[in-house]
Amino acid sequence: MDQTTELIAQTACYLVNTYARFPIVLVKGSGARVWDAEGKSYLDCAAGIAVDILGHCHPKMVEAIRAQAELLLHVSNLYFIEPQIRLARALSEHSFGGQAFFCNSGAEANEAAIKLARRYAKARWSSDRYEIVCMRDSFHGRTMATVTATGQEKYSQGFEPLLSGFKHIPFNDLPAAERAIDSRTCAVLVEPIQGEGGVRVPDDAYLPGLRRLCSEREVLLILDEVQTGMGRTGRLFAYEHSRIEPDIMTLAKGLGGGLPIGAMLAKGAVAGAFVPGSHASTFGGNPFITAVAHAVLAEIIDAQLPERAAKTGAYFLGRLRELAARYSFVKDARGKGLMLAMELSVPAKPIVARCLERGLLILIAGDQVLRFVPPLIIGEAEVDEAIQILDLVLAEKSS
Ligand code: PLP
Repeated sequence: MDQTTELIAQTACYLVNTYARFPIVLVKGSGARVWDAEGKSYLDCAAGIAVDILGHCHPKMVEAIRAQAELLLHVSNLYFIEPQIRLARALSEHSFGGQAFFCNSGAEANEAAIKLARRYAKARWSSDRYEIVCMRDSFHGRTMATVTATGQEKYSQGFEPLLSGFKHIPFNDLPAAERAIDSRTCAVLVEPIQGEGGVRVPDDAYLPGLRRLCSEREVLLILDEVQTGMGRTGRLFAYEHSRIEPDIMTLAKGLGGGLPIGAMLAKGAVAGAFVPGSHASTFGGNPFITAVAHAVLAEIIDAQLPERAAKTGAYFLGRLRELAARYSFVKDARGKGLMLAMELSVPAKPIVARCLERGLLILIAGDQVLRFVPPLIIGEAEVDEAIQILDLVLAEKSS
C-alpha cells in the first residue's frame, strides 16, 4: 500500500467523519504552491479556505514563529501579555479604534459578538432586548449560537432545539431589515460579502443603509469579517469600501496567516459591557499566536497586500469573465479583491475535482458556485496558470 492510500485508510479508522476529503495528502507549501506526498505540485487558490493570506511558509511568518517559540508560548490571561497588547493596538489603529477580545476561531469570535451585543442591550435597555437579526444564506460558524445565526438550514439540521432570539431576513434587502428590526432587536449581524453562501456582493447602498438604520433604531451593527477581513477584498477590512464603521467586528481566517486565532473588536460603551468574568478563553490571545498575528498584520501593511489584492483581483475577475463569456453553463463571475466566484448552472464539485487532478486547488461556495480565494501574494502569471487549467476543465465539461 502506498503512503497516500495508507493515510486515507487510517483517516477512516481514526478521525470522526466530518469532512468529504479529496484523495491527496498535502505535505509542504511555499508561496502560492503546495505539494502532495507523491511530490505533485498544486497552485493553491483555496489557501486553507481563505486563511493563508501571506501564502505558505512566508519568511516573515516563519521568523516570527521561531522567535516567539524561543521566548514564550503560553501563559494565562490572568497576566499581561505583551504581544497581545501590541496586536490589539495595531488592529485598533488600523480599524475603527476599538478594543479587542481574542479567541481561537471565527465561530468563537462571533459567539463573543453575540454575547456582547446581548449583554450591552440588556444593561442599556431591558431584558427583552436580545434578538439578533441575521441574513439568509449567511455563514457564521459551527457552535450552537453560530449555527443558529447562520441562515442555511443544512448547518443546523439535527441539532435542534436551536437558541431562541435569532431572526433571518433576505440579504441585500434594506426594506426587509427595516421591517425586521423591532423593540426586541439588539443587533444586526451581517457579512459585508457573503462567503460560504456563494460570494454574494451586496449593492453599494446596502451596508451604508444598514448602518443608518441601526444607528436610527439604536441597534448594534455586527460585521462578520472573518472571511472578508485582513486585506482579502482589496481593503484591510471590507467595511472600508462602504465608508461606514461597525459597532462590533469579528475576524479570524487571515488574521493568523494559517495559525488559529479569532478576534472580536468593539469600542466605547459597547466593549465596556464585558467586565472581568463576563467572557474568557484559555488559549485566546496567547503570546505565541498574537506575536505571529502581529507579524502577519505588519507584513499585510508593509507589503501593501490589500492594494495588491485589489489589483490582482481585478485582473483575475477580468479573466474569469472572459471564461464566463465562452461557456454557456457559466452564469456569472463576481467578487471583490481576491474573494472571487464563478456561478455555474451545473454542479461545481466535479469541476473542483478535475481542477485538482490538473494541479489547481479551488473551492465551492454552495452547490453550483466555484470559489477562488488565493493567498494575497499571488501574481498575474499564477492567475494565468489557474485560468489555463480552469479553461481546460470547463472545455472538457462542455464537450
Ligand atoms: N464567519 C464567516 C464569514 C466564515 O466564513 C467562517 C468560516 O468559514 C466563520 C465565521 C467560522 O469560522 P471558523 O471556521 O474559524 O469557526
